[in-house]
Amino acid sequence: MRVGILAIQGDVREHERMFHRLGIATKLVRSKEHLQDLSGLVIPGGESTTIGMLMQEYGMTEEVLKYARTGQFPVWGTCAGLILMATEVVGPSPTRLALMDITADRNAWGRQVSSFEAEVPIAALGPPDFPAVFIRAPRIRRMGDTVVPLAKCQDDVVMAESGPFLVTSFHPELTEDVRVHRYFIEKIEEARANR
Ligand code: GLN
Repeated sequence: MRVGILAIQGDVREHERMFHRLGIATKLVRSKEHLQDLSGLVIPGGESTTIGMLMQEYGMTEEVLKYARTGQFPVWGTCAGLILMATEVVGPSPTRLALMDITADRNAWGRQVSSFEAEVPIAALGPPDFPAVFIRAPRIRRMGDTVVPLAKCQDDVVMAESGPFLVTSFHPELTEDVRVHRYFIEKIEEARANR
């Protein structure tokens, strides 16, 4: 197994560190050729406008979709990554992978100063609650029928999945808790078993 981490901008190294702690090999994805021979892809937090524009410029949008559409290539977007994976976005968004039928409202949790941390119960991970870090996070305003909510914070869904795709509006890579990363690895194992 090798997990790709889209390495255009954002908290790339932090994700890498988490997978390495779990003994999982990673590859930093900087061009569309780097997407070959991967088991799945993480789109990290950062600035969705920047990441999206450069994905287009490097021809990566179509290439990611080519793999994702096989149904056997899990993709996990954190924060900015969630925005890029949404079918609909409130506010400017030059690029959309549209892998998850949600409406993402950019920066709707407030500005940088109002970034916060909350203890969020996630049934799929079991106890204890997860230390969720929100940094200018998007809010999920709408979810389609194919989307399964996995966690809520103040009545808002902050983690959801749809088939092989996963989104979190918070940043598990900025904590010491590896459980969401492990959950994504389990999704990859599932996708491989279905091959
Ligand atoms: N506010 C950023 C955006 O709209 C996302 C912030 C983040 O990824 N921490 O792209």
